[in-house]
Amino acid sequence: MSTTQHSIVIVGFGGMGSYHGQLINENSRLKVAGTYDLLEERRSASAEAGYKAYSSLEEVLTDSEVEAILIATPNDVHKEIAIQALRAGKHVICEKPVALSKEEFEDMLAAADEAGRVLMVNQNRRWDEDFLIIREMYNKETIGTLFQLESRVHGANGIPGDWRHLQAQGGGMLLDWGVHLLDQLLFLIDSKVTSVSASLSFILGNEVDDGFEAVLQFENGVKAVVEVGTTNFITLPRWYVKGIEGTAIIEDWSMTGRMVTRNQESEKIEPKPIRAGVGLTKTMAPPSEGATITEALPAPSQLPSGFYDNFAAVIEGTAEPIVKNSEVLRVLNLIEAIFASAGTNQVIKDFDIYAK
Ligand code: NAD
Repeated sequence: MSTTQHSIVIVGFGGMGSYHGQLINENSRLKVAGTYDLLEERRSASAEAGYKAYSSLEEVLTDSEVEAILIATPNDVHKEIAIQALRAGKHVICEKPVALSKEEFEDMLAAADEAGRVLMVNQNRRWDEDFLIIREMYNKETIGTLFQLESRVHGANGIPGDWRHLQAQGGGMLLDWGVHLLDQLLFLIDSKVTSVSASLSFILGNEVDDGFEAVLQFENGVKAVVEVGTTNFITLPRWYVKGIEGTAIIEDWSMTGRMVTRNQESEKIEPKPIRAGVGLTKTMAPPSEGATITEALPAPSQLPSGFYDNFAAVIEGTAEPIVKNSEVLRVLNLIEAIFASAGTNQVIKDFDIYAK
């Protein structure tokens, strides 16, 4: 593997830009050459953190020492910054959501194509441990073929008090968190989405959604339920998945969870009826003793490399991107379908876009 360190400038040195700085400092293939932010106070913060603080985007793009930029600005300016940088001959990492619409992203792709430069989107949650555990279960059929996946993130803090409140800046939870959860599902499930049914929530009275629910049906029979909430004072599990042979749960980011499967060794014993509420039920009684096995979650599957290492290898022409732009485009299509379903209160069926 090459040991060349590629110089990158972080454009937008807010919360995520600073975090990228910390992560890239720990990475051997990329090196932070500096940062650029519109705000003077963020330029000072950058200088305090030990980075060169460029005073304009133009200064970044005309610096021949700079090979790439990483865009971590609010979502509405991703497109214009990316296109300028690509035309200036820089490679680009862009934060998610890459753009506000698929048309915007197509313009960015055309610029990358014309310039012969790499454009990669930071769908970093493909590397999340919880997702990689689910991926292991899905691919290895640890609890039998998975037929239903429920993926949720719940908070109780509302929409953060910044540009995420504003439609013009690409705010709202579907674009913010939804893009991660949908990217994970489309990356995992190698099948066409045949229908989407969704609703957005506006409980907090913002002009953008403070959460959403979407049900996706895939051609291979898998159903996915995706939910983002910012008014959930009690949270539901991060993942709840059902397979033919069992059920699994991942509670939270600490990977608390378990798998419960049918005990193949045990004879089928009818459960005993229980009193449930004021009624009696056998159907909803717990399985008889010994009829199920409870186990720890499997170890997560591994991706071929980390995001920054992969980006470095892609610009050197020695690897395929792990986050492919065709996949990013599919997710943007799906987001548009979710907006359409929520806006019309209809199930969206006629996609021309999900063919692989
Ligand atoms: P933020 O508001 O904390 O920071 C954005 C920064 O960009 C600010 O400092 C602002 O001054 C600067 N800025 C705005 N317009 C600019 C311009 N035209 N040129 C240069 N700088 C400009 O926002 P954030 O939470 O850091 O989010 C930034 C991006 O990162 C968003 O796209 C967001 O969706 C993404 N993000 C990704 C993750 C992830 O896990 N992948 C997590 C958080 C945020």
